[in-house]
Amino acid sequence: MKIAVHWFRCDLRLHDNTAIHAAVTGSDAVVPIFIFDPKILAAPDVSPGQVAFMIECLRLLEKNIETTGGKLIFRHGPVLDEMSAVLREAGAQALYYNRDYEPYARERDAAVEKLARSLGVEVHSYKDSVIHEPHEVLKADGGPYGVFTPYSRCWRSKTKPVVVPAVKLSRPARLKYPASLPLPSAKELGFTLDIVLPPAGERAARDRLKEFASGDLLQYADNRDFPAHDATSRLSPHLRLGTLSPRTVLVAIDKASRDHPKARRSTGSFVNELIWRDFYRQILWHFPHVAHACFRPKYDALKWENNEKLFAVWCEGCTGYPLVDAGMRQLNTTGWMHNRVRMVVATFLTKDLLISWQWGERYFMQKLLDADLASNNGGWQWSAGTGTDAQPWFRIFNPASQAQKFDPEGHYIQRYVPEVDTRAYSAPIVNHAGQRLKALALFRPL
Ligand SMILES: Cc1cc2nc3c(=O)[nH]c(=O)nc-3n(C[C@H](O)[C@H](O)[C@H](O)COP(=O)(O)OP(=O)(O)OC[C@H]3O[C@@H](n4cnc5c(N)ncnc54)[C@H](O)[C@@H]3O)c2cc1C
Repeated sequence: MKIAVHWFRCDLRLHDNTAIHAAVTGSDAVVPIFIFDPKILAAPDVSPGQVAFMIECLRLLEKNIETTGGKLIFRHGPVLDEMSAVLREAGAQALYYNRDYEPYARERDAAVEKLARSLGVEVHSYKDSVIHEPHEVLKADGGPYGVFTPYSRCWRSKTKPVVVPAVKLSRPARLKYPASLPLPSAKELGFTLDIVLPPAGERAARDRLKEFASGDLLQYADNRDFPAHDATSRLSPHLRLGTLSPRTVLVAIDKASRDHPKARRSTGSFVNELIWRDFYRQILWHFPHVAHACFRPKYDALKWENNEKLFAVWCEGCTGYPLVDAGMRQLNTTGWMHNRVRMVVATFLTKDLLISWQWGERYFMQKLLDADLASNNGGWQWSAGTGTDAQPWFRIFNPASQAQKFDPEGHYIQRYVPEVDTRAYSAPIVNHAGQRLKALALFRPL
C-alpha cells in the first residue's frame, strides 16, 4: 500500500487543490497534515485576525475531511521535527505539497525536501496558489519583469492551468494515522481577537465567488474604486489561505465574460487584479531583498522622520483627514480595507507624515485578514514610490481631493467616522501642502 502525506499550508480546501489531487491519484492512502509553525506564530507581524480566520478554515476543512472518511492531523512544533515524526509514524513513501514563494517558506521547504529524501520519501510539489509561476512569465532575455504592463501582456499570452476535481479522503483499514493534537483556538495560541470574522472555509469562499460573479463583477470597472459601494469581491482572505484557488476564480470570471459580453471591460479589469497578485509574487521570488528593503536600493537612503506620536495617531485613525481615518478605522474594526483607501492611507503615512513605508507595512500585516507579504509589500512600496511601477515620487495624493473624487457623498467616511461633521472631530495633525513640499525635498536628491 502506497501511503502519501499531503502537507496543507495555504491551500485549505479539497476542491481544485493540485497537490492533494495528485496525492490521491498517485497513492493508495493519503494522510493530510497541518503543522502549526512556532516560527511563523512568533513573528512580530502576525495578524491575530488572520490566525483566527485560518483556525476557522481548518475547523471546517477537518469536518469536510471527516465527512469523506479521512482525518486531518494537527501538529505543533518545529517543522523539521514534526515532519520527520509524521513521515515515520505514517509509514509514508511520498510527500505532497503546493509551492509557496515567500523567502522563509522557500528555505523551510528546501530543508523539508532534503529531510524527506534522506528518509527515502519521494517529494512532489506543485504550482497551485498562482496562475503562472515566477519562472513562467519572463522577458525575452530570460530575465524577470520589474514593470507590470509588459508582465501582464506576457501573462495573458500564456496557457491557463486547468481546474482539478475535488478529492475524497477515505481511510483504508490498514492505514495507521500519526498522533494528532486537537485543533487549538486562537486564544490558546496566544492571540486575542477583537473583530468579527467573515464566513470562513471553502464553501463560504465558493458561495462568495458565485454571488460576486453574477453581481458586482458585472460593474466592477465602474464601481471598484468607490469604497462606499463595497463592490469588490472580498475574496482576498480566501485567496490568501487557499480556501479558493485562483484557477477556480478565473473559470468563474471567464464564464461571466461569455455570459455577459457587455461586462467584458469589468471582467478584464478584475483579471488584471489577479495578475497584480501573481506579479508581486514573482517580484518577491526574483527580488527577495524587497522583504526588508526598497525594490530600488537608492531609496534605502531616504531620511524618514519616523515620528512615533504621528504614527500612533495614524494607526488609530485620528489624523483629522476623514478618508484616511475612515480607512484606518475600517482596518482596525473589520480586518479589511478597500483598495483605493489602502493607497490613500499608505501615501498619507509616507508622503504626509514622512514615516517609513516599512512601519505601515508591518501595521497592515498585524491587522489584515488578507495579510500577505508579497501583495502588501508591493502595495506599500508602490504607494511610497520606492517599488516597481511606483507612482512617481513627485505625484502625491491629496487626501481631501481623493475623498471628493472617490467618496463624493461621504457615505464611506460617515460609516467609520460618524463624528466627522461635529466639533468632536480632530483637527488635521499636519498641513498637507507643507508636508508635500517636505516629501518632495526628501525624495528629490535621490
Ligand atoms: C498598501 C497596500 C497594501 C496591500 N496589502 C495587501 C495584502 O496584504 N494582501 C492582499 O491580498 N492584498 C493587498 N493589497 C492589494 C488590494 O488592496 C487587496 O488585494 C484588495 O483590496 C482585496 O480586496 P478584494 O478581494 O475585494 O479585491 P478585488 O478588487 O475583488 O480583487 C480580486 C483579487 O485580486 C487580488 N488583488 C487585487 N488588487 C491587488 C493588488 N493591488 N495587488 C495584489 N493583488 C491584488 C486579491 O487577491 C483580490 O482578492 C494591498 C494594497 C495596498 C495599496
